[in-house]
Amino acid sequence: MPDEERRAELAANLADVRKRIASACAAAGRDPAGVTLVAVTKTFPASDVRLLAGLGITDVAENRDQEGAPKAAQLTDLPLTWHFVGQLQSNKARSVAGYADVVQSVDRPRLVTALSAAAVRAGRLLCCLVQVSLEESGGRGGVAPAEAPALADAIAGAEALVLGGVMAVAPLGADPVPAFERLAAAAAAVRGSHPAAGVVSAGMSGDLEAAIACGATHVRVGTALLGGRRAIVR
Ligand SMILES: *Cc1c(COP(=O)(O)O)cnc(C)c1O
Repeated sequence: MPDEERRAELAANLADVRKRIASACAAAGRDPAGVTLVAVTKTFPASDVRLLAGLGITDVAENRDQEGAPKAAQLTDLPLTWHFVGQLQSNKARSVAGYADVVQSVDRPRLVTALSAAAVRAGRLLCCLVQVSLEESGGRGGVAPAEAPALADAIAGAEALVLGGVMAVAPLGADPVPAFERLAAAAAAVRGSHPAAGVVSAGMSGDLEAAIACGATHVRVGTALLGGRRAIVR
């Protein structure tokens, strides 16, 4: 598709998403300035990220280092904040610390240690979020809500890491509201010891309204902005 056509498509999608965020904020009595839209660009080319940046997107997210590292490297001229939102192996920490500004998917102490060492080595400060699991099985990643404060303490105490707050993915096929309420409670527990850790990253294309109603400060939107992703072989 020619660039101009793709730009128009992304602009229309972005206008729709911004409208949804504004309505959800109005319904919740919240200021839309308190909700950051993070564009999840996984499986889409760097050219799309560039177009989105031209349309005013400031925050982008990737979920695989193999894809995020080269994409970020092609776009170092843009003033973007890069988020990492996928399951992260400790041996990828060094690569991710080279380009990510925020790691949203911190789910174990071993990863805190690896990210801290990598950030020190890279001479960078990494904002980290505790990923909280909102389902019994822990199927979509993250720590149980009761374990979030301890992991938050570990991040806050680690060199070159800054505790930002919490992140979660709603359970598949269930009402997201009770799940996002559990996340809000975990976020409040973390803020009890770390008042500045105010980030609550929740909500995707299908459930951003519910997330905003439950206090999300960051919504992570892929499909509604960029279109459907093809199945990718890992
Ligand atoms: C892919 C992804 C999203 C975006 O999901 P959409 O439903 O396409 O908006 C959000 N968060 C995480 C962690 C993801 O991996």
